[in-house]
Amino acid sequence: MHCRLFSFPFAFSFDQAASQRIKILAFFSSLLVAKLRIASSRRPPLDFCIDMEFEGRYKKVQSQGGRFDCLLFDLDDTLYPLSSGMAAECCKNIGEYMLEKLGIEESKIPDLCSVLYQKYGTTMAGLRAIGYNFNYDDYHSFVHGRLPYETLKPDPVLRQLLLSLPIRKAIFTNADRDHAARVLKRLGLEDCFEGVICFETLNQPSSSSGEETSSNIFDIVGYLSKPDPAVDQPKTPMLCKPSVEAMEQALRIANIDPQRTVFFDDSARNIQSAKAIGLHTVLVGTSQRVKGADHALESIHNVREALPELWEEAEKSSNIRPSNNVTMETSVTA
Ligand SMILES: [Mg+2]
Repeated sequence: MHCRLFSFPFAFSFDQAASQRIKILAFFSSLLVAKLRIASSRRPPLDFCIDMEFEGRYKKVQSQGGRFDCLLFDLDDTLYPLSSGMAAECCKNIGEYMLEKLGIEESKIPDLCSVLYQKYGTTMAGLRAIGYNFNYDDYHSFVHGRLPYETLKPDPVLRQLLLSLPIRKAIFTNADRDHAARVLKRLGLEDCFEGVICFETLNQPSSSSGEETSSNIFDIVGYLSKPDPAVDQPKTPMLCKPSVEAMEQALRIANIDPQRTVFFDDSARNIQSAKAIGLHTVLVGTSQRVKGADHALESIHNVREALPELWEEAEKSSNIRPSNNVTMETSVTA
């Protein structure tokens, strides 16, 4: 059609009927282009999909003037407990990756892991900072792809809690997209969230095959034990929590207003960054509040006790409850 449309007028002289046909074609063509432009401008960023039906409910709640209109959740050890053993397996896999794929001396791995995690947010981000280069997908499939996902079981209590709140809900994890999808599926929560902000959302894909590792790996453990004021600590090219820059970028991508959002995470440092950018914060996994935490919960199942106003606001406007609404009972398993 495009070919005909653009070559037609120049090919031969035409009568009135032909002219009319061209005008009609041009009209529909411009309509199509306009629609494509609108669709393109509305297309959500990578890994963040908006459920339009949900968005409609969200707007109704907003108009009721509730204090919060979005819940933003970390994934691992927040939506399921640390006792699942997934975190320990993940650490083991990271160590094996460093040994087998990067050739790091086994005796140095525990200290290096710990330092990189502390200084850069994730061990992966730290490895890149000090000079290692590797394919991100390979790393994720080695570290996350081999996790014992079967240990995670459906959580109908959490599912009920989430579905009983007709406001926006999203995931913000440092892990990769495949891992997030598998965890949510195992927990039976894959349809409870508007979208997932994950590693791929904030970082460009890698092109490295692992052959570009610097011959000069920065000795971060040695540097931190005896810092040299003349030497700068290397920066990571990756964006991840708890970096304030990463968190601000995530909120921008998801169009989230920090002043109207509750953020849940099991990491105290992530909670502190979240508080610094204006989020209302809930530390999950312990009842001991830390600096920057507005609440602390042993389990995500306790959320209704910490934030009863969320359910009170939902109950005030029964006409906005979702059709798949469920009972408001909160079952506490701390
Ligand atoms: Mg976590």
